[in-house]
Amino acid sequence: MILIMLGAPATGKGSVAEILKEKLNIPSISSGDIFRKNISEETEFGKKIKVFMDKGELVPDDLVLEMITSRLNEDDVKNGVILDGFPRTLKQAEALDKMLEKENKKVDMVVNLETPRDELLERTTNRRNCSNKECNSIYNLILHPPKVEGICDKCGSPLYQRDDAKPEVAKNRLEVYDRETAPLVNYYKKTGVLYTTILSQRINRMKDEVAQDVIEELKNKGL
Ligand code: ADP
Ligand code: ZN
Repeated sequence: MILIMLGAPATGKGSVAEILKEKLNIPSISSGDIFRKNISEETEFGKKIKVFMDKGELVPDDLVLEMITSRLNEDDVKNGVILDGFPRTLKQAEALDKMLEKENKKVDMVVNLETPRDELLERTTNRRNCSNKECNSIYNLILHPPKVEGICDKCGSPLYQRDDAKPEVAKNRLEVYDRETAPLVNYYKKTGVLYTTILSQRINRMKDEVAQDVIEELKNKGL
């Protein structure tokens, strides 16, 4: 099964993907995590993409595709995968379709998460990430604070604020989303695989409920 998580920055794609990967027993690939790992390990690839990420711009398609194609060729994704943060442009979506076609596969469902804009901005700037690359837990100082300030509940590592959680960068990322990624909603609507749902703490519609609804929807579709 090929599942795509779509949604503006900080919608909660990653958190829902984490729940779904356990329930569906397939791996989740986060392009942002792969990129950040390359940056922290100072790989050649990491050096090329850092400038874009620091500004909240998208990494150019050719670089993204080089990295994601090789990841999608690894054995653990043969039975299915959740894509979190990829594709993010029409070009990437088309390239993914071509890639899957060669293996007689297709995108089965695109989960399009919607969250009110002001909530997104608030969420992004209050976001703190675990510094342990193996853990990657995400917290929010208001909505989901760690039990001990500045420390990850799960692994005890220090938390930090990602550069892209700074207000100017967060705002730019939303603009980039509207321009580059939002057109994917229509792209997938046309092929009938789009499942749009709301994720908003303000109306108490949380990630677990959303994940449960996705599972239901997959069942309804016989997937
Ligand atoms: P979030 O989960 O907050 O939406 P991500 O971790 O997915 O953020 O992505 C962080 C940054 O990594 C993006 O702002 C962008 O610079 C880069 N990035 C991640 N995935 C892609 C992609 N598919 N195409 C281009 N850039 C990407
Ligand atoms: Zn941790």
